[in-house]
Amino acid sequence: MIIRGGTVVTARGVDLVDIEVTDGLITAVGADLGTPAGGDIDATGLHVFPGGIDSHVHFNEPGRTEWETIAHGSAALAAGGYTTFIDMPLNSLPVTVAGPAFDAKLAAMRRSSIVDFGLWAGLVPGNTTHLAELVERGAMGFKAFMCPSGIEEFPACDARALREGMRHISALDSILLVHAESPEVLKAYARESLGAGAFLASRPPLAEFQAIDTALGLAAEAGCRLHVVHVSTTRGAQLVRAAQARGVDASAETCPHYLLYTDSDLERLGGTGKSTPPFRSARDRDGLWQMLAAEELPMVVSDHSPSTLALKQGTDFFKIWGGISGCQSTRQLLLAEGRLELTTVAAVTATNVARRFGLAGKGDIAPGFDADLWLVDLGHDDVVRREDLLYRNPFSVHEGLRIRGRTVRTLVRGRTAYPGGEPAGRFIRPGARS
Ligand SMILES: [Zn+2]
Repeated sequence: MIIRGGTVVTARGVDLVDIEVTDGLITAVGADLGTPAGGDIDATGLHVFPGGIDSHVHFNEPGRTEWETIAHGSAALAAGGYTTFIDMPLNSLPVTVAGPAFDAKLAAMRRSSIVDFGLWAGLVPGNTTHLAELVERGAMGFKAFMCPSGIEEFPACDARALREGMRHISALDSILLVHAESPEVLKAYARESLGAGAFLASRPPLAEFQAIDTALGLAAEAGCRLHVVHVSTTRGAQLVRAAQARGVDASAETCPHYLLYTDSDLERLGGTGKSTPPFRSARDRDGLWQMLAAEELPMVVSDHSPSTLALKQGTDFFKIWGGISGCQSTRQLLLAEGRLELTTVAAVTATNVARRFGLAGKGDIAPGFDADLWLVDLGHDDVVRREDLLYRNPFSVHEGLRIRGRTVRTLVRGRTAYPGGEPAGRFIRPGARS
């Protein structure tokens, strides 16, 4: 099969070239490949990106399938140009902190996922004896919370538990992801009333700075690879960057909601806009965009953390579920803002994610890579509409925002995953082909 006439966008450049696909692999990329045949795809007028990789989603299966399911979540990703995701160890039940829970989630993924997938495991106090069995099973790495996670069954690690966990994770040559908000700082700013303003005040940027600093220091000491999830402030991202310059093996990600909203939007948006950390200042928002454009911040992921609509409503902002539904629209939202080059969009939503987490054969359009491709009509502008969302609970804080690009087709290893994808996603271990 040859995908003909499309404008191919990679992190390396933009080119009008054909892509030859054989048995799910890209076998050639170049001008005017071969003679046209029946199975070819005409991509004239379309852009072709490497399939997106969302390394931060919560699909909640097994256990909390009223909030999200693998079938719904993976269909939403395919519709938005994504071909791979890595699922978080919560908010499924059981949480993924030991071998049997990992096996149960993997079985559910194999049954239902339309796109390829990896699994994060959890680091919680007391589970260091289970880390090796999780690595053996193919865990991409481990996620820990430095502050309460929002669910009781996934407790936070204090500095001692983090340090202990990092020593094990380093010895296993794996990576630790941290939700970085300092519980001490959060305690100092604890709630004073019910509303959005009080919620924002209760989770100040200082909590993020302190926690990132602590995590970086511990990781440097332990020689542990570290990744800071959903960084919400410019200074937070700069701390990671500065540690890198000192030789610490650290990285960070941000999310569309920190790039599209500020703290002054939260009152108006209400509960659907509640996330932790919360929205920040316009300066932070703009600083994060600048760092992405300058390739100083390598990734944008959704942190798709859905729930029922009922849990996103109420007068007490502290009781509302803290999570944003958004994995379907990440790329289209970034493209609509127009602040990043197309090559940078490819880099921060695919190439850099694959490189950092060792997703072999993913994230680029070149011979030898999986034929994971997003064929998109960038001439099409629209807004996020509830009726187009494929989530188990189709609502999102992004409803009404401008998006750019209509997905014409999403291919996973050469097979159509959108429109009309089948649950044929494959499990990916770090460093190994799917
Ligand atoms: Zn998350």
